Amino acid sequence: MIYDIAVVGGGIIGTATAYKLSLKFPDSRIVLLEKESKLAFHQTGRNSGVIHSGIYYKPGSYKAKNCLDGRKQLVKFAQENEVAHDVCGKIILATKEEEIAGLEKIFARGIENRTEGIRKIGPEEIKELEPLAEGVAAIHVPCTGIIDFKGATRKMGELFLTNEHNEIRYGVQVNGIKNKDNETELTTNEGKVLCNRVIFCGGLQADRLAKMEGLDPRMKVVPFRGDYYELAESSKHKVKNLIYPVPNPEFPFLGVHLTRMTDGTVECGPNAVFSFDREGYSKTSVNVTDALDALTYSGTLKLFAKHWRNGINEQRRAFSKSLFLKALQGLIPSLTMNDLAPGRCGIRAQALAPDGTLIDDFHMINGRRSIHVLNAPSPAATACLSIADEIITRFETLN
Ligand SMILES: Cc1cc2nc3c(=O)[nH]c(=O)nc-3n(C[C@H](O)[C@H](O)[C@H](O)COP(=O)(O)OP(=O)(O)OC[C@H]3O[C@@H](n4cnc5c(N)ncnc54)[C@H](O)[C@@H]3O)c2cc1C
Repeated sequence: MIYDIAVVGGGIIGTATAYKLSLKFPDSRIVLLEKESKLAFHQTGRNSGVIHSGIYYKPGSYKAKNCLDGRKQLVKFAQENEVAHDVCGKIILATKEEEIAGLEKIFARGIENRTEGIRKIGPEEIKELEPLAEGVAAIHVPCTGIIDFKGATRKMGELFLTNEHNEIRYGVQVNGIKNKDNETELTTNEGKVLCNRVIFCGGLQADRLAKMEGLDPRMKVVPFRGDYYELAESSKHKVKNLIYPVPNPEFPFLGVHLTRMTDGTVECGPNAVFSFDREGYSKTSVNVTDALDALTYSGTLKLFAKHWRNGINEQRRAFSKSLFLKALQGLIPSLTMNDLAPGRCGIRAQALAPDGTLIDDFHMINGRRSIHVLNAPSPAATACLSIADEIITRFETLN
Protein backbone atom coordinates (compact mmCIF):
# COMPACT_ATOMS: atom_id res chain seq x y z
CA MET A 1 0.00 0.00 0.00
CA ILE A 2 1.32 3.40 -0.98
CA TYR A 3 0.06 6.56 0.70
CA ASP A 4 -0.35 9.63 -1.49
CA ILE A 5 1.07 11.84 1.25
CA ALA A 6 2.83 11.14 4.53
CA VAL A 7 3.19 13.88 7.14
CA VAL A 8 5.88 13.16 9.72
CA GLY A 9 5.37 14.78 13.13
CA GLY A 10 2.16 15.21 15.08
CA GLY A 11 2.87 18.58 16.65
CA ILE A 12 0.60 21.48 15.72
CA ILE A 13 2.44 22.15 12.43
CA GLY A 14 2.22 18.57 11.15
CA THR A 15 -1.35 18.13 12.35
CA ALA A 16 -2.54 21.48 10.92
CA THR A 17 -0.85 20.55 7.62
CA ALA A 18 -2.45 17.08 7.54
CA TYR A 19 -5.85 18.64 8.33
CA LYS A 20 -5.57 21.26 5.59
CA LEU A 21 -4.20 18.74 3.07
CA SER A 22 -7.24 16.56 3.69
CA LEU A 23 -9.54 19.51 2.96
CA LYS A 24 -7.65 20.39 -0.22
CA PHE A 25 -7.18 16.81 -1.48
CA PRO A 26 -10.16 14.87 -0.09
CA ASP A 27 -9.54 11.90 -2.38
CA SER A 28 -5.91 11.44 -1.33
CA ARG A 29 -4.78 8.83 1.15
CA ILE A 30 -2.87 10.73 3.83
CA VAL A 31 -1.04 9.33 6.85
CA LEU A 32 0.24 11.29 9.85
CA LEU A 33 3.15 9.52 11.54
CA GLU A 34 4.00 10.42 15.13
CA LYS A 35 6.65 8.70 17.22
CA GLU A 36 4.94 9.41 20.55
CA SER A 37 1.66 7.91 21.79
CA LYS A 38 -0.30 11.15 21.31
CA LEU A 39 -0.35 14.42 19.41
CA ALA A 40 1.29 17.61 20.73
CA PHE A 41 3.68 15.73 23.03
CA HIS A 42 6.70 18.02 22.57
CA GLN A 43 6.87 21.79 21.91
CA THR A 44 3.17 22.20 21.13
CA GLY A 45 1.99 20.66 24.37
CA ARG A 46 4.54 22.46 26.53
CA ASN A 47 4.33 26.06 25.36
CA SER A 48 2.95 29.24 26.93
CA GLY A 49 -0.49 28.93 25.33
CA VAL A 50 -0.44 32.43 23.89
CA ILE A 51 -2.12 33.47 20.65
CA HIS A 52 0.48 36.01 19.59
CA SER A 53 -0.62 39.24 17.95
CA GLY A 54 2.30 39.58 15.51
CA ILE A 55 3.49 42.90 16.94
CA TYR A 56 7.16 41.92 17.43
CA TYR A 57 8.21 40.47 14.09
CA LYS A 58 10.26 42.02 11.33
CA PRO A 59 7.81 43.54 8.83
CA GLY A 60 7.63 41.44 5.68
CA SER A 61 9.02 38.32 7.39
CA TYR A 62 7.22 34.97 7.29
CA LYS A 63 6.68 35.35 11.03
CA ALA A 64 4.92 38.71 10.61
CA LYS A 65 2.77 37.56 7.70
CA ASN A 66 1.86 34.13 9.03
CA CYS A 67 1.26 35.30 12.58
CA LEU A 68 -1.32 37.87 11.49
CA ASP A 69 -3.13 35.52 9.11
CA GLY A 70 -2.62 32.45 11.33
CA ARG A 71 -3.95 34.19 14.44
CA LYS A 72 -7.17 35.10 12.65
CA GLN A 73 -7.57 31.58 11.30
CA LEU A 74 -6.79 30.03 14.69
CA VAL A 75 -9.31 32.16 16.60
CA LYS A 76 -11.99 31.30 14.01
CA PHE A 77 -11.04 27.61 14.25
CA ALA A 78 -11.26 27.74 18.05
CA GLN A 79 -14.66 29.48 17.92
CA GLU A 80 -16.07 27.00 15.42
CA ASN A 81 -14.69 23.93 17.15
CA GLU A 82 -15.12 24.80 20.81
CA VAL A 83 -11.42 24.90 21.63
CA ALA A 84 -10.82 26.76 24.92
CA HIS A 85 -9.47 30.23 24.16
CA ASP A 86 -9.89 33.86 25.20
CA VAL A 87 -8.80 36.94 23.27
CA CYS A 88 -8.02 38.77 26.50
CA GLY A 89 -5.25 41.17 25.43
CA LYS A 90 -1.86 41.78 26.98
CA ILE A 91 0.44 44.57 28.04
CA ILE A 92 4.12 44.97 27.15
CA LEU A 93 5.53 46.86 30.09
CA ALA A 94 8.49 49.24 30.25
CA THR A 95 9.54 49.25 33.89
CA LYS A 96 12.21 51.96 33.57
CA GLU A 97 12.83 54.99 31.36
CA GLU A 98 15.70 53.21 29.53
CA GLU A 99 13.20 50.68 28.14
CA ILE A 100 10.96 53.26 26.50
CA ALA A 101 13.03 53.44 23.29
CA GLY A 102 12.65 49.63 22.92
CA LEU A 103 8.92 49.91 23.57
CA GLU A 104 8.61 52.62 20.88
CA LYS A 105 10.36 50.33 18.36
CA ILE A 106 7.93 47.53 19.11
CA PHE A 107 5.01 49.92 18.72
CA ALA A 108 6.34 51.11 15.34
CA ARG A 109 6.65 47.48 14.22
CA GLY A 110 3.12 46.81 15.40
CA ILE A 111 1.84 49.65 13.24
CA GLU A 112 3.79 48.34 10.22
CA ASN A 113 2.51 44.84 10.90
CA ARG A 114 -1.10 46.10 11.11
CA THR A 115 -1.57 44.75 14.64
CA GLU A 116 -5.14 45.76 15.43
CA GLY A 117 -6.01 48.11 18.27
CA ILE A 118 -2.55 48.63 19.80
CA ARG A 119 -2.25 51.68 22.04
CA LYS A 120 0.46 53.29 24.10
CA ILE A 121 -0.67 53.65 27.69
CA GLY A 122 0.70 55.33 30.80
CA PRO A 123 0.93 54.31 34.48
CA GLU A 124 -2.73 55.04 35.25
CA GLU A 125 -4.11 52.81 32.50
CA ILE A 126 -1.53 50.16 33.33
CA LYS A 127 -3.06 50.04 36.84
CA GLU A 128 -6.57 49.79 35.41
CA LEU A 129 -5.58 46.73 33.35
CA GLU A 130 -3.14 45.13 35.80
CA PRO A 131 -3.52 46.69 39.26
CA LEU A 132 -0.30 45.21 40.71
CA ALA A 133 1.99 45.87 37.72
CA GLU A 134 4.39 48.80 37.99
CA GLY A 135 5.65 50.51 34.87
CA VAL A 136 6.46 53.85 33.33
CA ALA A 137 4.76 53.07 30.01
CA ALA A 138 3.22 50.13 28.17
CA ILE A 139 1.63 48.96 24.96
CA HIS A 140 -1.82 47.46 25.26
CA VAL A 141 -2.29 44.72 22.65
CA PRO A 142 -5.97 43.77 22.69
CA CYS A 143 -5.80 41.07 19.98
CA THR A 144 -3.39 38.82 21.92
CA GLY A 145 -5.12 35.81 23.44
CA ILE A 146 -4.71 32.49 25.20
CA ILE A 147 -5.62 29.05 23.88
CA ASP A 148 -5.41 25.36 24.71
CA PHE A 149 -2.90 24.38 21.99
CA LYS A 150 -3.12 20.66 22.86
CA GLY A 151 -6.90 20.85 22.45
CA ALA A 152 -6.55 22.69 19.14
CA THR A 153 -4.12 20.06 17.83
CA ARG A 154 -6.36 17.19 18.96
CA LYS A 155 -9.33 18.83 17.22
CA MET A 156 -7.39 19.20 13.96
CA GLY A 157 -6.42 15.53 14.26
CA GLU A 158 -10.06 14.55 14.81
CA LEU A 159 -11.22 16.55 11.78
CA PHE A 160 -8.43 15.02 9.68
CA LEU A 161 -9.71 11.56 10.62
CA THR A 162 -13.28 12.34 9.54
CA ASN A 163 -12.04 11.53 6.03
CA GLU A 164 -12.01 7.72 5.92
CA HIS A 165 -8.94 7.66 3.65
CA ASN A 166 -6.77 9.16 6.37
CA GLU A 167 -4.83 7.59 9.22
CA ILE A 168 -2.84 8.71 12.25
CA ARG A 169 -0.22 6.19 13.28
CA TYR A 170 1.20 6.66 16.78
CA GLY A 171 4.44 5.18 18.08
CA VAL A 172 5.91 5.21 14.56
CA GLN A 173 9.34 6.80 14.38
CA VAL A 174 10.93 7.54 11.01
CA ASN A 175 14.55 6.39 11.11
CA GLY A 176 15.44 6.32 7.41
CA ILE A 177 14.35 7.91 4.13
CA LYS A 178 15.01 6.40 0.73
CA ASN A 179 13.89 8.07 -2.50
CA LYS A 180 13.17 5.37 -5.08
CA ASP A 181 12.22 5.93 -8.73
CA ASN A 182 8.48 6.25 -8.17
CA GLU A 183 8.00 6.54 -4.45
CA THR A 184 9.66 7.36 -1.15
CA GLU A 185 10.32 4.64 1.40
CA LEU A 186 10.32 5.63 5.07
CA THR A 187 12.00 3.15 7.37
CA THR A 188 10.34 3.12 10.78
CA ASN A 189 10.40 1.04 13.96
CA GLU A 190 7.08 -0.41 12.70
CA GLY A 191 8.36 -1.40 9.26
CA LYS A 192 8.42 0.38 5.93
CA VAL A 193 5.97 3.11 4.93
CA LEU A 194 5.70 3.90 1.22
CA CYS A 195 4.41 7.23 -0.02
CA ASN A 196 4.43 9.51 -3.05
CA ARG A 197 5.17 12.74 -1.18
CA VAL A 198 6.32 13.54 2.36
CA ILE A 199 6.11 16.60 4.56
CA PHE A 200 8.44 16.60 7.54
CA CYS A 201 7.37 18.64 10.57
CA GLY A 202 9.75 17.12 13.11
CA GLY A 203 10.25 20.11 15.43
CA LEU A 204 13.23 19.30 17.67
CA GLN A 205 14.36 16.59 15.19
CA ALA A 206 13.85 18.62 11.99
CA ASP A 207 17.55 18.89 11.03
CA ARG A 208 18.11 15.16 11.56
CA LEU A 209 15.18 14.28 9.30
CA ALA A 210 16.61 16.52 6.54
CA LYS A 211 20.01 14.86 6.90
CA MET A 212 18.34 11.43 6.80
CA GLU A 213 17.18 12.34 3.31
CA GLY A 214 20.72 13.32 2.34
CA LEU A 215 20.02 17.07 2.38
CA ASP A 216 22.28 19.69 3.88
CA PRO A 217 20.02 21.78 6.14
CA ARG A 218 22.75 24.42 6.71
CA MET A 219 21.53 24.82 10.28
CA LYS A 220 21.24 22.76 13.41
CA VAL A 221 18.43 22.60 15.91
CA VAL A 222 19.76 23.79 19.24
CA PRO A 223 17.44 23.13 22.17
CA PHE A 224 16.61 25.96 24.60
CA ARG A 225 14.69 24.89 27.68
CA GLY A 226 12.08 27.22 29.14
CA ASP A 227 11.23 26.71 32.82
CA TYR A 228 8.02 27.97 34.38
CA TYR A 229 6.80 28.64 37.90
CA GLU A 230 3.10 28.79 38.66
CA LEU A 231 1.42 31.40 40.82
CA ALA A 232 0.14 29.68 43.96
CA GLU A 233 -3.65 29.30 44.17
CA SER A 234 -3.91 32.14 46.69
CA SER A 235 -1.85 34.48 44.44
CA LYS A 236 -3.56 33.95 41.08
CA HIS A 237 -5.63 37.11 41.50
CA LYS A 238 -2.41 39.15 41.22
CA VAL A 239 -2.43 38.80 37.41
CA LYS A 240 -5.52 39.56 35.33
CA ASN A 241 -4.27 38.58 31.87
CA LEU A 242 -0.80 38.69 30.28
CA ILE A 243 2.12 40.90 31.34
CA TYR A 244 5.26 40.89 29.18
CA PRO A 245 8.55 42.79 29.56
CA VAL A 246 10.26 44.72 26.78
CA PRO A 247 12.36 41.93 25.19
CA ASN A 248 16.10 42.01 24.55
CA PRO A 249 16.29 42.52 20.76
CA GLU A 250 19.44 40.35 20.53
CA PHE A 251 17.44 37.18 21.22
CA PRO A 252 14.35 35.67 19.62
CA PHE A 253 12.85 34.98 23.09
CA LEU A 254 10.38 37.36 24.72
CA GLY A 255 11.67 37.39 28.32
CA VAL A 256 9.98 35.87 31.37
CA HIS A 257 6.37 36.96 31.54
CA LEU A 258 3.15 36.30 33.43
CA THR A 259 0.45 34.44 31.55
CA ARG A 260 -3.06 33.44 32.53
CA MET A 261 -3.74 30.03 30.97
CA THR A 262 -7.09 28.73 29.70
CA ASP A 263 -7.36 26.38 32.73
CA GLY A 264 -7.20 29.35 35.10
CA THR A 265 -3.61 28.85 36.29
CA VAL A 266 -1.10 31.69 35.96
CA GLU A 267 2.32 30.75 34.66
CA CYS A 268 5.54 32.69 35.12
CA GLY A 269 8.29 32.18 32.57
CA PRO A 270 9.77 30.81 30.45
CA ASN A 271 13.47 31.52 30.72
CA ALA A 272 15.72 30.34 27.86
CA VAL A 273 18.51 27.98 28.90
CA PHE A 274 20.70 25.86 26.62
CA SER A 275 19.58 22.24 27.07
CA PHE A 276 21.78 19.15 26.91
CA ASP A 277 18.80 17.06 25.84
CA ARG A 278 16.38 17.87 23.00
CA GLU A 279 13.49 15.97 24.56
CA GLY A 280 14.43 15.68 28.25
CA TYR A 281 12.12 17.64 30.51
CA SER A 282 14.12 18.03 33.68
CA LYS A 283 16.72 20.67 34.54
CA THR A 284 19.46 18.05 34.79
CA SER A 285 18.57 15.90 31.72
CA VAL A 286 21.54 15.04 29.52
CA ASN A 287 21.40 13.08 26.28
CA VAL A 288 24.93 12.30 25.17
CA THR A 289 24.11 12.33 21.43
CA ASP A 290 22.26 15.65 21.68
CA ALA A 291 24.90 17.25 23.89
CA LEU A 292 27.79 16.19 21.62
CA ASP A 293 25.84 17.19 18.55
CA ALA A 294 25.35 20.72 19.88
CA LEU A 295 28.71 21.19 21.56
CA THR A 296 30.75 20.11 18.53
CA TYR A 297 28.87 22.44 16.19
CA SER A 298 30.58 25.64 15.10
CA GLY A 299 27.32 27.60 15.44
CA THR A 300 26.89 26.70 19.12
CA LEU A 301 30.50 27.54 19.95
CA LYS A 302 30.21 30.90 18.22
CA LEU A 303 26.91 31.64 19.97
CA PHE A 304 28.41 30.75 23.36
CA ALA A 305 31.52 32.88 22.69
CA LYS A 306 29.33 35.88 21.90
CA HIS A 307 26.72 35.50 24.63
CA TRP A 308 28.59 33.63 27.39
CA ARG A 309 27.68 36.14 30.09
CA ASN A 310 23.98 35.98 29.28
CA GLY A 311 24.18 32.15 29.07
CA ILE A 312 25.74 31.88 32.55
CA ASN A 313 23.16 34.23 34.02
CA GLU A 314 20.33 32.19 32.49
CA GLN A 315 21.81 28.93 33.88
CA ARG A 316 22.08 30.51 37.35
CA ARG A 317 18.52 31.77 37.20
CA ALA A 318 17.31 28.30 36.14
CA PHE A 319 18.50 26.88 39.46
CA SER A 320 17.66 29.87 41.65
CA LYS A 321 14.07 30.64 42.55
CA SER A 322 15.11 33.98 44.04
CA LEU A 323 16.74 35.11 40.77
CA PHE A 324 13.66 34.00 38.83
CA LEU A 325 11.50 35.95 41.30
CA LYS A 326 13.69 39.03 40.81
CA ALA A 327 12.94 39.02 37.07
CA LEU A 328 9.21 38.73 37.79
CA GLN A 329 9.36 41.48 40.41
CA GLY A 330 10.47 43.78 37.60
CA LEU A 331 6.85 43.46 36.39
CA ILE A 332 5.02 43.02 39.72
CA PRO A 333 7.22 44.25 42.59
CA SER A 334 4.95 42.87 45.33
CA LEU A 335 5.45 39.21 44.30
CA THR A 336 7.19 37.11 46.96
CA MET A 337 8.78 33.66 47.13
CA ASN A 338 5.52 32.31 48.61
CA ASP A 339 3.64 33.31 45.47
CA LEU A 340 5.68 30.93 43.28
CA ALA A 341 5.05 27.20 43.08
CA PRO A 342 7.26 24.91 40.95
CA GLY A 343 6.00 24.51 37.38
CA ARG A 344 6.75 22.56 34.22
CA CYS A 345 9.14 23.21 31.35
CA GLY A 346 9.20 23.11 27.55
CA ILE A 347 12.06 22.90 25.05
CA ARG A 348 12.25 25.19 22.05
CA ALA A 349 13.71 23.98 18.77
CA GLN A 350 15.84 26.94 17.72
CA ALA A 351 17.64 26.79 14.38
CA LEU A 352 21.22 27.96 14.57
CA ALA A 353 23.35 28.79 11.50
CA PRO A 354 26.98 27.58 11.33
CA ASP A 355 28.17 31.17 11.99
CA GLY A 356 26.32 31.29 15.32
CA THR A 357 23.34 33.33 14.11
CA LEU A 358 19.99 32.39 15.65
CA ILE A 359 17.77 31.95 12.60
CA ASP A 360 14.82 34.12 13.40
CA ASP A 361 12.31 33.46 10.64
CA PHE A 362 10.31 30.37 9.74
CA HIS A 363 12.29 28.27 7.29
CA MET A 364 11.58 25.27 5.08
CA ILE A 365 13.40 23.50 2.22
CA ASN A 366 12.40 21.04 -0.47
CA GLY A 367 13.77 17.53 -0.88
CA ARG A 368 13.32 15.38 -3.95
CA ARG A 369 9.59 14.88 -3.36
CA SER A 370 9.39 16.27 0.13
CA ILE A 371 9.23 19.44 2.19
CA HIS A 372 11.19 19.85 5.42
CA VAL A 373 10.02 22.45 7.94
CA LEU A 374 13.37 23.32 9.53
CA ASN A 375 12.55 26.28 11.75
CA ALA A 376 9.12 26.80 13.27
CA PRO A 377 9.74 28.55 16.59
CA SER A 378 7.27 30.84 18.36
CA PRO A 379 4.82 32.14 17.09
CA ALA A 380 4.48 29.02 14.91
CA ALA A 381 1.75 27.52 17.11
CA THR A 382 -0.30 30.71 16.63
CA ALA A 383 0.55 30.72 12.91
CA CYS A 384 0.04 26.97 12.31
CA LEU A 385 -2.94 27.22 9.95
CA SER A 386 -1.23 29.88 7.85
CA ILE A 387 2.05 27.91 7.81
CA ALA A 388 0.01 24.90 6.66
CA ASP A 389 -1.25 27.03 3.72
CA GLU A 390 2.36 27.98 2.86
CA ILE A 391 3.38 24.32 2.99
CA ILE A 392 0.52 23.33 0.68
CA THR A 393 1.41 26.07 -1.82
CA ARG A 394 4.97 24.71 -1.86
CA PHE A 395 3.67 21.14 -2.01
CA GLU A 396 1.78 21.89 -5.21
CA THR A 397 5.05 22.87 -6.91
CA LEU A 398 6.81 19.57 -6.08
CA ASN A 399 7.57 17.43 -9.14
C1 LIG B 1 8.51 26.96 26.13
C2 LIG B 1 7.82 27.31 24.86
C3 LIG B 1 6.88 28.36 24.83
C4 LIG B 1 6.25 28.70 23.63
N1 LIG B 1 5.20 29.58 23.64
C5 LIG B 1 4.48 29.78 22.52
C6 LIG B 1 3.29 30.55 22.55
O1 LIG B 1 2.85 30.99 23.59
N2 LIG B 1 2.65 30.78 21.37
C7 LIG B 1 3.10 30.28 20.18
O2 LIG B 1 2.49 30.55 19.15
N3 LIG B 1 4.20 29.49 20.13
C8 LIG B 1 4.88 29.21 21.28
N4 LIG B 1 5.95 28.38 21.26
C9 LIG B 1 6.38 27.81 19.99
C10 LIG B 1 5.46 26.67 19.56
O3 LIG B 1 5.15 25.82 20.63
C11 LIG B 1 6.18 25.92 18.43
O4 LIG B 1 6.51 26.86 17.45
C12 LIG B 1 5.27 24.85 17.81
O5 LIG B 1 4.70 24.05 18.82
C13 LIG B 1 6.06 24.02 16.84
O6 LIG B 1 5.25 22.95 16.44
P1 LIG B 1 5.87 21.72 15.65
O7 LIG B 1 4.74 20.88 15.22
O8 LIG B 1 6.82 22.24 14.63
O9 LIG B 1 6.80 20.98 16.72
P2 LIG B 1 6.44 19.93 17.87
O10 LIG B 1 5.26 20.33 18.62
O11 LIG B 1 7.70 19.74 18.65
O12 LIG B 1 6.10 18.62 17.06
C14 LIG B 1 7.04 17.87 16.34
C15 LIG B 1 6.58 16.43 16.38
O13 LIG B 1 7.38 15.63 15.51
C16 LIG B 1 7.53 14.36 16.10
N5 LIG B 1 8.70 13.71 15.51
C17 LIG B 1 9.96 14.19 15.53
N6 LIG B 1 10.79 13.32 14.88
C18 LIG B 1 10.02 12.29 14.44
C19 LIG B 1 10.31 11.11 13.72
N7 LIG B 1 11.54 10.79 13.34
N8 LIG B 1 9.28 10.26 13.44
C20 LIG B 1 8.00 10.56 13.83
N9 LIG B 1 7.69 11.68 14.54
C21 LIG B 1 8.68 12.54 14.83
C22 LIG B 1 7.70 14.69 17.57
O14 LIG B 1 7.46 13.59 18.41
C23 LIG B 1 6.72 15.82 17.76
O15 LIG B 1 5.46 15.36 18.19
C24 LIG B 1 6.60 28.02 22.44
C25 LIG B 1 7.52 26.97 22.48
C26 LIG B 1 8.09 26.59 23.68
C27 LIG B 1 8.99 25.40 23.70
